[in-house]
Amino acid sequence: MRSKVMSLIQKAGVARMLTLLNRRAGKRPVVVFHRVHPKFDHLTQPIHPNEFREFLDLMLRLYVPYTMDDINTTEERACFITFDDATLDFYEYVYPILKEMKVPATLFVPVNSIQKQERIWNNELMHAALFATKDEATYEVDDYVVKVRKDAELDELLQIIKTLNSAPSQSASIVSDLTRTLNAEKSEWAQPMSWSQIEEVSQNGVLIGSHSLDHLSYEFMLPDEAINDSNSSQAQITKMMGEKPMTFAFPMGHVNHLDAVKRNYKIVCSTEPRLYNINENGPVPRISIYDTTAPEMLLRMTGFHSLIRP
Ligand SMILES: [Zn+2]
Repeated sequence: MRSKVMSLIQKAGVARMLTLLNRRAGKRPVVVFHRVHPKFDHLTQPIHPNEFREFLDLMLRLYVPYTMDDINTTEERACFITFDDATLDFYEYVYPILKEMKVPATLFVPVNSIQKQERIWNNELMHAALFATKDEATYEVDDYVVKVRKDAELDELLQIIKTLNSAPSQSASIVSDLTRTLNAEKSEWAQPMSWSQIEEVSQNGVLIGSHSLDHLSYEFMLPDEAINDSNSSQAQITKMMGEKPMTFAFPMGHVNHLDAVKRNYKIVCSTEPRLYNINENGPVPRISIYDTTAPEMLLRMTGFHSLIRP
C-alpha cells in the first residue's frame, strides 16, 4: 500500500515537471481515448468511468482543456481531449462526466454510420471474436475468404480488418454474417449515436469533427475516392449541424491522401504517439490512452513514454 501511494506521488511529480518542460518547448498534448466502459475486456482495454473522472480531476490541476479548433491557442497550459467513432458508449459513459466537470472535448464521427445507423463494423468484429460462443466463422465467396477465430489476438483481427477494407461496400454485411455465425451478441460499442445525441453533446462543450464517411482506411482509397470521402463527410456534417467542421481524424490513424484532406480541413489528426508542437504543419499527433490508473494516464499525456521508448 505504502509503495502504491509513493508511486502515485512520484508519478504526479514527474508529470508536473514534464508538463512545465513541454510548455517551455511549445509542446502540448492531444490525447485520444478509445473507450470508457465499466466492463473490462483485454482486447479494447476500456477505462473505467470512475478512473476517467479521476484522471480529469488530476488533469485539470495542470492543464486547461480546449477543443481542437483552438489547437494554436496562446494558452500555454492548453491540452486537447479527443474521442473517435461516436458510439453509444461515448454518450452513456463519457459525455455525462465531461458535461458535469465542464471539460470541453472533440468527437470524430463516421458520418454514414450515424446517418444510416449502420453498425461500426470493425468494432463489431473485435467484439464478435471476443464474445463468440462458437469457435470460428468463415465467410467465403469465390476466392475471397475471411476467417475469424474466437479469442483471436488483436494483431490477427487488425489483419482481418485490413482484408475487409479491400471490399469496402460489403464489409458491414460480411461482418454481420460472421457475427451471426460466431453467435456473439451485438456489441454496444458498434452502435453509433444518433444525430440528435450528437447535436445534444455539441451544445454542451463537445466539438464535432469528421472521421470519414464509413470508417474505412484511407490507405486503400484511390485519390478520387479520398477526395469524395473527405468532401462528402464535411458537407453532411455541415448540413446536419449547421456549421462546417474544420477538423478531421483519419480512420484507424492511417494517414494517406493528406493533401486532399487538407484542402477541406484546417486541422487533420493522426494517431502518432507524441506531443504536438505549435510550430509544426503536418498531421496533429495524438497520444492514445487505454485502461490504466489516473496518475499513469496523466503521465502518458506528458509524452513520458515516448521519451523512454522512442
Ligand atoms: Zn475510429
